[in-house]
Amino acid sequence: MMACLVPPPPAIADGFSPSPLKLVQQNRLVSAFQSPKSLSELRALHGRMITTGLRRNDLVLGKFIICCSSSNCMEYARKVFDEMSSPSVFFWNAMIKGYQQNGDHMEVLRLYFQMRSCGFDSDAFTFPVVLRSCSPLKRIREGKGIHGLVLKTGYATNVIVQTALMDLYSLSGCVASARQVFDEMRERDVICWNTMIAGYSRCGDFANAEELFHKMPEKDESSWNTLIDMYCKAGDVEAARRLFDEMPKKDIISWNAMISGYVHIGDMEVARLLFDEMPRRSVVSWNVVITCCVHHRRFTDALDLFRKMQRSDVRPNEVTMVAVLPACAHLGAMDLGQWIHAYIDKNRIRMDVYVTTALIDMYGKCGNVEEARRVFEMAKEKDAFSYSTMIEVLALNGKAEEAFQIFSYMQSHGLKPNGVTFVGLLTACSHAGLVEKGRMYFNMMKSEYNLEPKSEHFGCMVDLLGRAGYLDEAFELIKSMPMEPHVVVWGALLNACRIHGNVKLAETVGFRLIELNPTNCGNYVLLANIYAKANRWDDSVRVRKMMKDRGVVKKPGCSSIEVNNSVHEFIAGDNSHTHCARIYRTLQEVTERLKREGYVPEVSSALHDVDTNEKMQALSYHSEKLAVAFGLLSTTPGTPIRIVKNLRVCEDCHVMMKMISQHYDRNIILRDCNRYHHFNNGSCSCSDYW
Ligand code: ZN
Ligand code: ZN
Repeated sequence: MMACLVPPPPAIADGFSPSPLKLVQQNRLVSAFQSPKSLSELRALHGRMITTGLRRNDLVLGKFIICCSSSNCMEYARKVFDEMSSPSVFFWNAMIKGYQQNGDHMEVLRLYFQMRSCGFDSDAFTFPVVLRSCSPLKRIREGKGIHGLVLKTGYATNVIVQTALMDLYSLSGCVASARQVFDEMRERDVICWNTMIAGYSRCGDFANAEELFHKMPEKDESSWNTLIDMYCKAGDVEAARRLFDEMPKKDIISWNAMISGYVHIGDMEVARLLFDEMPRRSVVSWNVVITCCVHHRRFTDALDLFRKMQRSDVRPNEVTMVAVLPACAHLGAMDLGQWIHAYIDKNRIRMDVYVTTALIDMYGKCGNVEEARRVFEMAKEKDAFSYSTMIEVLALNGKAEEAFQIFSYMQSHGLKPNGVTFVGLLTACSHAGLVEKGRMYFNMMKSEYNLEPKSEHFGCMVDLLGRAGYLDEAFELIKSMPMEPHVVVWGALLNACRIHGNVKLAETVGFRLIELNPTNCGNYVLLANIYAKANRWDDSVRVRKMMKDRGVVKKPGCSSIEVNNSVHEFIAGDNSHTHCARIYRTLQEVTERLKREGYVPEVSSALHDVDTNEKMQALSYHSEKLAVAFGLLSTTPGTPIRIVKNLRVCEDCHVMMKMISQHYDRNIILRDCNRYHHFNNGSCSCSDYW
């Protein structure tokens, strides 16, 4: 501790009023401490305190510590505090409060006990702060000790101290002790009533919560909100709504609680209605509805909401990012995803594991493996899920070797893989046709990591074996499964039958699938196509008729493409786009040009119960063709075209994409429901094996 080398300011030393110059300097400094500062600004201000001789002025020092706390720089405050020769209770309190505001509850308790051992008595400011730091640390024992001290030092009737005690007890599950404090109170304000009600609501004692609520002499918004939130969390949205409608003055929290309540029970419609009605919205309001849209796979709605949010005065936070990125990923909206990435950087939003993983997934699903990889390499925080996501991205984009390398890195660094990691690895093997390696990983799951293979792992294995032509082995594997084989597992085998033209097995598997999931159009269509390719037209027609008789409608092919930061969706034969005429004209020009280059429409991809002319028609308007035509006419030459399709790409579209990539010199990245196709200079990354 430094000795007093300079005399203290006169105001403190002997009661004389400070010189007018000092007073001006003091006021200037104090007003400079109003807003949060960067570390270098704090250093500069501290320098000014020294040069103006105000470094020992209590008012200036106190404001400086508070400013450090609001600037998230408690280390600096601590440095100044530690240099003080004998800080008064006021400074101890300022430090304790500062640590609490920065969420460092451990340091609050440490400093509190240090203060006590230095012989200082706690006061009405110390107790509530320290008690509030006991709750998150679950330090009920220390809390009870402080309660004893409160009784001894005569603060037992201080409403703020009593409320902090009630809070600690009810948060620690001792609601009866909280009630005892409440009953002993001589005077109660609205905050202590609310605290008690919140305590009952937290432990599920609705009757007591409700009883106190009705007894309250005076209610504020928080009283209503606590009860609304309580009923919403319990799923009793009607009870909550009654209170909400009755509430005289609703605030943002009431609206958010009510909207979350509807989201919680899955009533998206009412949640949206309420959201639209809100007079003012907070970031939480936006996050709740955006997350809900994504959860219900209404991705376009989620992005629309996000764009509206950008136009509002509410700034998105990391929760918004984690909610929006999967929507971008699903729709292939990479421009928007990139914008979000830049926004995160610019606003220094913390790149935690969730944000990082969501970014890797978004870039990966948009087919931009390099960028996904870059985010992965740069990430400071990574867990098994980030690794697994990276492996999956590489696997789906046909970069099996890189996926295996990441896994080796995980192994050598002692990171425990999970089930998702193995889905990624098996997918990598499957897309690269590496049967032996796949078998090795499949066995490793159980033998080395004690992970029981789940349905999805069997699905990957069946896919791997099936694609490589080991159809019988794949069939045997399904029969050996310890659980009921999921439709995805059978679906993988049926696709393998399609690739290898095994009609016999396809019949067994196809009808099994139809039996398991009679409303799914995909199985009928796939089986019908397999028959058709083997020239068994009658059987093909029979399957299609069966589908029609059962009222199953073919799911329309739908492709989306992002141009100028907005997502355009196309359905096969779509006429709804504003530039519809130009798109069809472009598509026709492209087809003509490719025909001159040797393109022959692959009619077997089209419906087989129509004549050839109609087949050609149906084929030429597949949704991915419309999307690519739109991409060609609305982006500058050389720009990569990214398309996302909901179904598997057909052979004809695949041929056409390859030719466009060559003759129009474009990289085309097409994600279908199964994998990624990177078309470049006339060939595809899938090696025509999908
Ligand atoms: Zn097609
Ligand atoms: Zn391909």
